[in-house]
Amino acid sequence: HAKASGRNNYQYFSDNMRSEALTRSTLENDLHHALPNHEFIVYYQPLIDLQTTPNQIIGFEALLRWNHPRKGLISPDDFIPIAEETGMIVAIGEWVLKSACKQFKIWRDQDQPQLKKICVNLSARQFLQNDLVHSIRQCLDSTGLDARFLEIEITETVMMQHMSAVIRILQQLMQMGITVSLDDFGTGYSSLTYLKKFPINSIKIDRSFVRDILNDPDDKVIVHSIISIARHMRLDIIAEGIENKEQATYLMQAGCRFGQGFLYSKPLPADGLIDLFPMFD
Ligand code: C2E
Ligand code: MG
Ligand code: MG
Ligand code: MG
Repeated sequence: HAKASGRNNYQYFSDNMRSEALTRSTLENDLHHALPNHEFIVYYQPLIDLQTTPNQIIGFEALLRWNHPRKGLISPDDFIPIAEETGMIVAIGEWVLKSACKQFKIWRDQDQPQLKKICVNLSARQFLQNDLVHSIRQCLDSTGLDARFLEIEITETVMMQHMSAVIRILQQLMQMGITVSLDDFGTGYSSLTYLKKFPINSIKIDRSFVRDILNDPDDKVIVHSIISIARHMRLDIIAEGIENKEQATYLMQAGCRFGQGFLYSKPLPADGLIDLFPMFD
């Protein structure tokens, strides 16, 4: 009996592996058609000023979604890694940037002066293309969006690779008036050296530290330390993944100025957001 079930297990796993490989190669194959077939959508999640009452929306983070013709909506964690490995992220990233800038310009033009920034995530791979600065400048020119409204988000993983090249690029972007934030802070191969060496304007506290902030003493210490460092370095600070009022109050009282999370809004397509303007209660 043991033998039989062992064989079944073996078959089970090998079938499973085959179907997994199939999924991955199907996804990779389908991803090639996603851009020309208009299957991508940019969702936007509001960025909130925690220190104002009522809390104002000061901008949005652009978050990519793939509306797959058979599988439906696919989350970025499931396809961005494939897009990075294959290099498709460069073309996809340009499309996201352009869509987000275009949309933010529309919102700004609708007399929404409290909207101060549109945040767009960039992958390491995009820093390796030799014309990133040029392509961002072209995007701003063609959409007519003022550079000071654009914020790019990078992770510690991006910083680790090709340090000096990345620093050079960030400096060029900052000279244009673009701001830079360090995303998922504390989750990567964190080194405080990055804060010192890299030109950045703000830090995003990863949501893994926010989740248990009310109960976990370690998370409290970590978050207070990040906020203190940010304040001394004159960096903006934004907390990710705020899901309830208690977390928001705690973070606000700890000195965190900005936040985003399901408490305020999930990421939504552009036309679903207009109702939320100009602020939350
Ligand atoms: P991220 O940049 O750290 O984005 C924040 C993620 O947290 C988003 O996941 C968002 O939906 C989620 N989130 C926001 N508030 C809450 C909350 O209160 N609770 C919980 N549980 N989650 C919350 P999403 O949209 O699935 O994106 C995942 C990651 O994919 C992003 O993490 C980012 O690293 C990457 N990504 C998304 N769009 C792009 C893109 O256009 N380009 C690149 N290179 N990466 C992208
Ligand atoms: Mg981000
Ligand atoms: Mg993040
Ligand atoms: Mg992330």
